[in-house]
Amino acid sequence: MPKSVAKKPRKTVKKSAVEFAQAPAPLKLATLCIQAGYSPKVGESRILPIVQGATYKYEDIVQVNRVMTLQEFGYKYTRTGNPTVTGFETKINLLEGGAGAVATASGQAATLLAIASIVRAGDHILSASTLYGGTFTLLNSTLKKFGVTTTFFEPDAPTREIEKLFRPETRILFGETIGNPGLTLLDFDKLSRLARKHSIPFIVDNTLATPFLCQPFKHGANIITHSASKYIDGHATSIGGVVIDGGNFDWTNGLFPEFTSPDPTYNDVIYTQKFPQSPFLFKARAQFLRDFGACLNPMNAILFNLGLETLHLRMPRHGENARALTRFLAGHREVSWVNYPGLDPKSKKRIQQFFEHENGSGILTFGIKGGIPAIRRFAQKLKVAALVVHVGDARTGVLHPASSTHAQLDEKAQRAAGITPDLVRVSVGIEDARDLIADFDQALG
Ligand SMILES: *Cc1c(COP(=O)(O)O)cnc(C)c1O
Repeated sequence: MPKSVAKKPRKTVKKSAVEFAQAPAPLKLATLCIQAGYSPKVGESRILPIVQGATYKYEDIVQVNRVMTLQEFGYKYTRTGNPTVTGFETKINLLEGGAGAVATASGQAATLLAIASIVRAGDHILSASTLYGGTFTLLNSTLKKFGVTTTFFEPDAPTREIEKLFRPETRILFGETIGNPGLTLLDFDKLSRLARKHSIPFIVDNTLATPFLCQPFKHGANIITHSASKYIDGHATSIGGVVIDGGNFDWTNGLFPEFTSPDPTYNDVIYTQKFPQSPFLFKARAQFLRDFGACLNPMNAILFNLGLETLHLRMPRHGENARALTRFLAGHREVSWVNYPGLDPKSKKRIQQFFEHENGSGILTFGIKGGIPAIRRFAQKLKVAALVVHVGDARTGVLHPASSTHAQLDEKAQRAAGITPDLVRVSVGIEDARDLIADFDQALG
């Protein structure tokens, strides 16, 4: 039996483990959105500067050695850290209330970093089935080739059903706050209790909720991942991701020897001893970014930082517009059903329990009568909204997941992910809702 279970989730916002500049705490979310992550000294740039560079100067080989062997923090090569990227990491970490963050080249890289920093061949993952298509194929197919297997469960299944799926080699419990595109909201209490009971980390993909709507560390998550390409960017300019360490998991419980034994590739550092506040974060940065190389570039970091500055203004508007469009679609004769979190009793309860605002992001789904020909016609006729493989943009976009993001899944797996053949996903933007309603009305004909 592992000697201890995960520590209790922390309630307060903690300062970043990797400091570029610190905002005075505690600040409210809107202020953190704008100012966190960078505080200039006299005469320096008021806004986070772009440090567009690959490498950093040193004067003594002893200094370089100390940085390269993790004895001292310092930028060495942009693959493992860059001041502009740190500014973005610090801000999103403070918004989520974590112990530190690592930015990555994409949301997919963020998921891979979180997982690959924990498991090795022979290990097992338990994941909610309500997943983004790329995450499903990563878990179900690609990781399997490296000897890491995943069992998927229906997130609303009773505890005892999910419990049966745990194995001695299970090392991660994974789920999305708001499943993309099934829109199932996770029962954090149930899942975090299960993860704690089995002494394994609970990883939450918080992409569609963002820390504005939901802060999973308050509800027992240990690691949060994001595709920054969605609401964090908010304007569809860039691809990127980020992983945030809650600093609230006990890696010394006996199940994770890579955290508690010497790493010969870094001068025999023992992550839990050297970095007791956030061993996961330091191991992830040191090993994954060095060896897999999927780092975020400074230009994209500056765009994500800019996107976060208006997150607290955009998210309420996305929600209002989604509600207005949902109400309109619910009354339309060509529409067979509409789903928007917050407008049905079950998801409303979850929002009240786990969300910071009574709002379900900008994503809604609906069914069109008349099968594929009707869906094609609808997509072709849209003038304000557009057919795009993306969500979280200021512009409204629609997609037919069964033939696109989830086309690689068979019908059974599609249904488990919450996708029916008639499902259309709408990422409602921040335009005037009246124009969106008029556009959908003419396109549905
Ligand atoms: C888009 C998305 C991803 C993948 O992110 P990329 O930035 O496209 O690599 C992962 N999870 C969710 C929920 C997403 O919506």
